Amino acid sequence: MAQHVHNSYHPVDAAVLKRLREIFPKDRISNEPVDLMTYSYDATRKEYAPQVVIWPETAQEISDLMKVACNYRLPVYPRGGGTGLTGGALAVEGGIVLSLERMVKIGEIDEQNRLVTAQCGIPLAELKTAVQKKNLFYPPDPSSAKSATLGGTLAECAGGLNCVKYGTTKDWVMSAVAVMPTGEIIHVGSKARKSVVGYNLLQLLIGSEGTLAILTDATLRLIPYPKFRKSFYALYDSVMASAIAVQAMLQSGVTPSALEFIDRISLEAANNYVKDKQIPVAEALLLVETDGYDEQSMNEDLQILLELCKEKSASAIREAQTEEERASLWFIRKSLSPAMYAMAAFKANEDICVPISEFPAMLEEAYAISKRHNVITLCFGHAGDGNLHVNFMSNQEHDDDVEAAVNDLFRATVAHGGSISGEHGIGITKAPYLSYEMGERELRLLVQIKELFDPVGILNPSKIVMKKE
Ligand SMILES: Cc1cc2nc3c(=O)[nH]c(=O)nc-3n(C[C@H](O)[C@H](O)[C@H](O)COP(=O)(O)OP(=O)(O)OC[C@H]3O[C@@H](n4cnc5c(N)ncnc54)[C@H](O)[C@@H]3O)c2cc1C
Repeated sequence: MAQHVHNSYHPVDAAVLKRLREIFPKDRISNEPVDLMTYSYDATRKEYAPQVVIWPETAQEISDLMKVACNYRLPVYPRGGGTGLTGGALAVEGGIVLSLERMVKIGEIDEQNRLVTAQCGIPLAELKTAVQKKNLFYPPDPSSAKSATLGGTLAECAGGLNCVKYGTTKDWVMSAVAVMPTGEIIHVGSKARKSVVGYNLLQLLIGSEGTLAILTDATLRLIPYPKFRKSFYALYDSVMASAIAVQAMLQSGVTPSALEFIDRISLEAANNYVKDKQIPVAEALLLVETDGYDEQSMNEDLQILLELCKEKSASAIREAQTEEERASLWFIRKSLSPAMYAMAAFKANEDICVPISEFPAMLEEAYAISKRHNVITLCFGHAGDGNLHVNFMSNQEHDDDVEAAVNDLFRATVAHGGSISGEHGIGITKAPYLSYEMGERELRLLVQIKELFDPVGILNPSKIVMKKE
């Protein structure tokens, strides 16, 4: 098991363990090899074993821990469901993994103000189901929602399937409680709908990937649950034809609640993976959904989008007539990630995002890059946001061709006015490319902000911005 303690940090030795055991009972702190191994991975499949795993239950316990960590200079890594795709929760410098999976309480569901408060270790799907029982809706919906936690989605500013209509996590969080690396507990944001008091500390923490503070509780905005939803898919004989249909739908005045693109090689991979179920194969598939509170107007929206897809030369269209059929359409999309894991041992899973107008040109670039470097590449993604998942597949962890392809992809993305990550964050895998998108002064600001929050350099070190020596 790869275990690595950087020499600028103190190891978790007997004295440290003794001190930590004064804060955490026996069943919530472990240096058993089986636990160190379990918490050494995330969805990147990279492996860095910590020296100890701790399961806190309160913000106060985390605060006490951080004071000890500061004192000894111990690296600490907040961890939710471990579904991160950029290595954000990995113990790259050894030290302590802080798993929030026991902090799962849902507090008040405030129907009058349409707010919910919850602890940050709760799996997102559980939280969404709990509010849905009260006919309320928390829209952020990453495909990983059953395992990803509220804290992980806040820390990554997760997106997902319905951002084209509802935006990303940052649009739904009102306030949060967090523990600073120094152990101080802070309350940021407000439950009031409008608040412009001081710098926006809440939004600084959203998307900060656990490098500035540990989020323990959050209050989220809710809306009434949309009662009606309808889905269809449209098949295309060329990727470009599907990209043109995407543009037409986005300019139609109707906002779909989801607009996903899947290319031929991704559909083939999904077919090989699921075997028993038939997934259609075409050069491109668009998966479209509308939702709403009024069935008639939702159906009218759906008809407009269906007509546009036909007009823009869809070769076939299938509309789900029942909830079961709708689930079977979305099953296609949900099969893609596991299909890719089965297809090759490693993948560079990039989630670039470009302005909508650049989406067709960016798709062309991605395929040209794949061809130039001779790398098998699967493209799919949230077309409605211009957010394209480009997956370069390989059977080696270090593959020069993949690295060259990633490099070209990021350069091209920035040249098209885009961003190198739409929703998965920077973590360790994209840290070397930050300067492609940010200037020197902006990068220096990131380092200065990190130092302000974390003067000792112990919270999730070596992520986003490099380690402080
Ligand atoms: C199959 C699959 C599908 C996915 N689909 C999507 C998708 O559609 N959209 C999308 O945006 N992402 C998606 N992801 C990526 C991933 O699920 C998200 O990034 C998610 O937000 C991570 O949550 P987590 O709880 O697993 O976090 P982890 O992986 O445990 O951690 C991720 C980062 O958050 C930090 N962190 C975790 N908890 C806290 C906390 N309480 N306080 C401070 N920092 C914290 C960690 O230190 C780390 O930097 C997918 C991943 C997989 C494997």
